[in-house]
Amino acid sequence: MSETIFSKIIKREIPASILYEDDLALAFRDVNPQAPVHFLVIPKKPIVKLSEATIEDQALLGHLLLVASKVAAQEGLTDFRLVTNNGVAAGQSVFHLHIHVLGDRTFTWPPG
Ligand code: AMP
Repeated sequence: MSETIFSKIIKREIPASILYEDDLALAFRDVNPQAPVHFLVIPKKPIVKLSEATIEDQALLGHLLLVASKVAAQEGLTDFRLVTNNGVAAGQSVFHLHIHVLGDRTFTWPPG
């Protein structure tokens, strides 16, 4: 997988507002927030997108969801929305798997 802006954030080559880190995952604020609280949870493993994850990644994917929930609580959120854009037509612009966590506003359904 080629270098992305997120792998540079993992390596601290570019700055980010980091909210959480462990051996497997990193959470940091989105630079262009779409809600009062908007952060991203990423695996340190360079998975391009969800559809490229394999059974070997099963525990890691579960871990990312628990990190999302933990950091949401840390941010004072009880209600929040998770979004993962998979592929260009779905809105993916950075090709390193990430979960958007958005909160502190009301959301509509269906999403745009
Ligand atoms: P997506 O369009 O689903 O691939 O989401 C990529 C997200 O990464 C967008 O919401 C961007 O605002 C965010 N983003 C891009 N560069 C950075 C950065 N350097 N730090 C934090 N978030 C970023």
